[in-house]
Amino acid sequence: MTGTMKAMVVQEPFKMEYLDVPIPVIGDDEVLVKIKMCGICGSDKSIYSGKYAREKLPFIPGHEFWGIIEETGKNVKNVKPGDRVAVDICLTCGTCYFCRHGDGLLCETFTQLGIHTDGGFAEYVKAPGKNCYLLPDDMDDYLCGFVEPLTTVIHASQRMQPKIGDSVVVIGMGLGLLHAQMAKHRGCAPVIIVGTNADKGRFDTAREMGADYVINGDEEDPVEAVFRITNGVGADNVLEAVGTPETYEMAFRMLRRGGKLEAFGICAEDAFAKIRPYEFVLGEKKVSGSCAGFGNNWAEAIRLLEYGIIKPQKMFSMAIPLEELPQMMEEFKTRRDLIKVFVVPGLKERIVF
Ligand SMILES: [Zn+2]
Ligand SMILES: [Zn+2]
Repeated sequence: MTGTMKAMVVQEPFKMEYLDVPIPVIGDDEVLVKIKMCGICGSDKSIYSGKYAREKLPFIPGHEFWGIIEETGKNVKNVKPGDRVAVDICLTCGTCYFCRHGDGLLCETFTQLGIHTDGGFAEYVKAPGKNCYLLPDDMDDYLCGFVEPLTTVIHASQRMQPKIGDSVVVIGMGLGLLHAQMAKHRGCAPVIIVGTNADKGRFDTAREMGADYVINGDEEDPVEAVFRITNGVGADNVLEAVGTPETYEMAFRMLRRGGKLEAFGICAEDAFAKIRPYEFVLGEKKVSGSCAGFGNNWAEAIRLLEYGIIKPQKMFSMAIPLEELPQMMEEFKTRRDLIKVFVVPGLKERIVF
């Protein structure tokens, strides 16, 4: 397919332009996907403001997308034109030391569609055919748009591996809401979520999504609250989903001896947090990191949404036309009421859920 398409290109920090650009040309192993929608993520805000992937600009961001197969390269056998697909955004070499060890997320040339190279804030995107996962015909369009964020939550949960009956503290009320629901479904209890005054509008949503306790860190010390709730033991697991040194320090302090910290929130690259090495030894505390969804996490996310195990609908705020994205980026600065906003190419006007 040749011609031009509408796309939102970040040229340089804070400069996002709605342009006509060439439709991507696919190789023999690739597919062209017509974008149905693409969710806006915190990392899109970081790309827009130059905090993340600045050296890759200009490119088209957007990594939470799904769409319809428009065209397939001659070697692609798993999907055909007309199929609804979610796309694993991870591009790996398959041959480096890390890939050979099954750690594709750590690949020497790791690249993600929409984060380091052209993604879903456009009418079309190209991707490797093998990265496509079929979406059930009757799955709601907006649920389909939530597959990628859920893959990241599944991956983190699989890394953390909380046991049945374990306490789990989630710090942060963005994707943290989804982490809380995941912990609940893994049989964890109590599930405790920590927010601030700025999150107040989300407290009810957090409870509805499975949190047993909602702690407002601006009103009480979350570390004290966690020790009180756990009868002085501390948390079996803490998942940090904010990304500041202060919240990491808090996370580490509220862990029980032998507990595990799952690092999910992305701090600035040059940020440091104070952690007492003493506690690694005498407290046998563990830390693991998780940076994205990977591989079969896509199939797992589709299944959990299809069967209603994970119900993220309360996080859906709005759908907007593609051309309104720059305006939306500005609105995010003041509108803490918005959780997930979907960008829909061709949409005539905003839909508020
Ligand atoms: Zn994201
Ligand atoms: Zn590799």
